[in-house]
Amino acid sequence: MTKPIALIAGGGIAGTVAALALHRAGWAPRVFEARAPGAEEQGAWLTVAVNGLAALRALDLDPAAVTAAGFPTPRLTMVNGAGRELAVLPLGGPAADGTTTTTIKRSDLFAALRAAAVERGIPIEYGKPLSDFTEQPGAVAVTFADGSTAEGELLVGADGIRSRTRERLDPDGPAPKYLGLLNAGGFTDGPVAAAAGQAPGMVHMAFGRRAFFGWTTAPDGSVWWFANPPRKQPVRPGEFTAESWRAHLVELFAGDATPAAAIIRATPEVLGPWNTDDLRRVPVWRTRRAVLIGDAAHAVAPSSGQGASMAFEDAVTLGRCLDPGADPADGLARYEQRRRRRVERIVAAGRRNGSGKTAGPVGAAIRDAMFPLVMKLAYRKGDPQAWILEHRIS
Ligand SMILES: Cc1cc2nc3c(=O)[nH]c(=O)nc-3n(C[C@H](O)[C@H](O)[C@H](O)COP(=O)(O)OP(=O)(O)OC[C@H]3O[C@@H](n4cnc5c(N)ncnc54)[C@H](O)[C@@H]3O)c2cc1C
Repeated sequence: MTKPIALIAGGGIAGTVAALALHRAGWAPRVFEARAPGAEEQGAWLTVAVNGLAALRALDLDPAAVTAAGFPTPRLTMVNGAGRELAVLPLGGPAADGTTTTTIKRSDLFAALRAAAVERGIPIEYGKPLSDFTEQPGAVAVTFADGSTAEGELLVGADGIRSRTRERLDPDGPAPKYLGLLNAGGFTDGPVAAAAGQAPGMVHMAFGRRAFFGWTTAPDGSVWWFANPPRKQPVRPGEFTAESWRAHLVELFAGDATPAAAIIRATPEVLGPWNTDDLRRVPVWRTRRAVLIGDAAHAVAPSSGQGASMAFEDAVTLGRCLDPGADPADGLARYEQRRRRRVERIVAAGRRNGSGKTAGPVGAAIRDAMFPLVMKLAYRKGDPQAWILEHRIS
């Protein structure tokens, strides 16, 4: 019997894992990625939580193999701009199967997932931005920006926070909004004296006096970092040069008793700036034959550390819900029913975390005084994040 075709717009985290999940369920997936091959090498690093990694087991993928280029980071420490420790918190794992929240370069994660797809014979076509789609009874037809077309039985919109699939699915739906925070990141070539001697496996986060900073030391001694400078207006392309951006960041952190400024100075290439955007609740996730997953459906704030994991969980759940021999409409309804409540709770939790990064001097003083107590109370009966981190797809 010919397998039904699943057209997947977006070859990022959600799209590639959806291709693997649908392939396993008996579909013939085809992935269409807007960027040219190799463009995924851009970008910084991310921390993939234990719940997301555990979802990969449902696809017969070993989480440790997928993240072999990364390193375990099961703990997080928070400090203030004066370098005073406010709390040490668990980030997840090791679970009973050994899976631990892991930090990995975005490019390495993409490469591992795409290699798994290619190994299973799943075609990935590059330079193919979806521009439109139409549904007929029994089929969906997609048009790409270059005028070419493709047909299948299902369309999965995994095309990220600025999803064109979402725009076409519901033109009145929400558009991303700037959150008042910029993003920067990078990697040092080797150890930085100011960050030396810090425990391995620890992610450090600092509420600096003027901006938020995070860093962790990789097994080779290099320091991986990100920064979130607050800014009222989104940054425009070309507004900073590489050197003016570095100088701006160093100046923001110069007054803090943390290693931030030294780490930035020691970084050969400072990445960014990127704007941080948020997406209000997306009311329409699906039609009879088209569905949104990952950031296209629910952009989780970067501070939640759950965006990639939600993409994994979505993709695996989609594969579980879609029987290739049945009407996709029923499977898509099941998918939404299983995913919407959980992701919306996580989006809301991530938004609350992010708002603390932009506190003024008075807010910061209150936060620094209250944070240890609030965390102590929150964790007194166990990990309040357990509902996120210990979730497993049944
Ligand atoms: C600064 C920053 C830090 C983050 N840190 C973390 C973290 O530590 N942990 C974590 O879990 N998450 C983190 N996230 C979130 C995480 O990166 C996303 O949630 C995750 O990448 C979502 O995966 P996705 O596949 O849905 O979208 P994306 O990764 O954005 O992939 C979408 C893909 O679709 C392609 N595309 C776009 N338009 C089209 C089109 N029209 N047609 C075809 N293809 C298209 C894009 O080129 C891209 O490859 C962070 C995000 C940011 C911005």
